Amino acid sequence: MTEELHIVGGGMAGSEAAWQAARHGVSVVLHEMRPQRGTFAHKTGNLGEMVCSNSFRSDDDEQNAVGLLHWEMRAADGLVMTTADRHRLPAGGALAVDREPFAEDITGALRAHPNVRVSHEEVTELPDEGQWIFATGPLTSEALGAAIARETGSEALAFFDAIAPIVYAESIDMSQAWMQSRYDKGETEDERRAYLNCPMDRATYEAFVDALLAADKTEFHEGETAGYFDGCLPVEVMAERGRETLRHGPMKPVGLTNPHKPEEKPYAVVQLRRDNALGTLFNIVGFQTKMKYGAQTEVLRMIPGLENARFARLGGIHRNTFLNAPTLLDDRMRLRSRPNIRFAGQITGVEGYVESAAMGLLAGRLAAAEMGGGSLAPVPQDSAHGALVHHITGGAEAKTFQPMNVNFGLFRPLEGLRGGRKGRRERYKAYTDRAKAAWTDWLATQAPAAAAAE
Ligand SMILES: Cc1cc2nc3c(=O)[nH]c(=O)nc-3n(C[C@H](O)[C@H](O)[C@H](O)COP(=O)(O)OP(=O)(O)OC[C@H]3O[C@@H](n4cnc5c(N)ncnc54)[C@H](O)[C@@H]3O)c2cc1C
Repeated sequence: MTEELHIVGGGMAGSEAAWQAARHGVSVVLHEMRPQRGTFAHKTGNLGEMVCSNSFRSDDDEQNAVGLLHWEMRAADGLVMTTADRHRLPAGGALAVDREPFAEDITGALRAHPNVRVSHEEVTELPDEGQWIFATGPLTSEALGAAIARETGSEALAFFDAIAPIVYAESIDMSQAWMQSRYDKGETEDERRAYLNCPMDRATYEAFVDALLAADKTEFHEGETAGYFDGCLPVEVMAERGRETLRHGPMKPVGLTNPHKPEEKPYAVVQLRRDNALGTLFNIVGFQTKMKYGAQTEVLRMIPGLENARFARLGGIHRNTFLNAPTLLDDRMRLRSRPNIRFAGQITGVEGYVESAAMGLLAGRLAAAEMGGGSLAPVPQDSAHGALVHHITGGAEAKTFQPMNVNFGLFRPLEGLRGGRKGRRERYKAYTDRAKAAWTDWLATQAPAAAAAE
């Protein structure tokens, strides 16, 4: 194989992609702009630098979707996960790492690999020729961001995320909530019932506004400004503007009739909208927020119907460059308009160190297989990698697409298992068993190529 694979960005995703492709016999040039050009969050010139917390979250591969992703990455000889294991710090059930030696080891391993060349430079264009993976992350440099926007259209590339909390459908109390679109709008029955509504009486609304005002909030990082969320205000900022603002905004009670209490007009209504094609996840409409995670769960569980809500992800507002992947990328993570270019990591609309590295692992393997003249079997949808890549490249609602963590709501439901809180342990174990089997089978189809490359 004489052609080189160019990977732009040596963070979580780019480092993992380079490792996977190199181990499959591909010559890789890894272009990383640091230390010549920095970002507001990175501190060093190392590859695989963790920009904030030092945690890869839960390491439980039977009951937690991110722990399952760890398991799958270890099974695929992932550089990020095996290096994290060597620098593990005590953290209960979580995988926390000693960040500096971790990044030094990632850098050392890639520099030492005979198939990898690291080039410290900023890439500012999407090249017409050659095979490329762009893994430039949430803080993609400005010039490259502009080049991507020129290719994709500016509406398909976001520069910040404003994530409304996402709830597992099965944890919503439907004896209080109901499905209805405002004024029953819509051509089909599905459209007329597109929203899930949670009603509030006056006392609940007043208490809710008080709690929003009192809740602990995070500050913006340096380099982020409130200007990023013009037109997309955090819910607590709306509450600060006046006690009635929410009731005239996302919580307006008009055009809706509560079938549980048809004679009682709600004082305010919180609406949730389907977040994936499977119908297992709902986002709370207009509830992007800077409330800290602990405060957020407490406040949101004051909403009638959400008292026992479990959250697939909590809300947030961050500086974040990401693509509208469901419309732009094919199921092999290639840009539909320029198939010589793949994207990986947080820029594809996943969120988190682990998810970003996982998307790098897939992109590296997919590119290596294609460059070797072959093609991998589709990534199994029942694995954690498959559930995530399927979500970002097609399963998610494109119109409201926001970055996603891995979670069991992305997995195809299993028939015949007990629903609700009581059945959870058994259900998650069944998901993780199914995922491990699917992932192991998929890796086995690539074993000969991997062995040949070593
Ligand atoms: C401030 C902040 C805090 C975060 N905190 C956490 C956290 O605590 N836990 C968590 O799980 N996730 C966190 N994230 C989210 C995210 O998961 C991480 O940013 C993760 O590192 C993303 O991996 P990545 O490989 O996609 O991007 P990165 O790890 O950021 O890697 C991208 C790389 O591309 C380089 N680059 C950018 N543009 C160019 C260019 N034009 N040419 C060449 N190189 C370029 C950058 O220097 C960088 O090294 C945070 C994000 C931000 C912005």
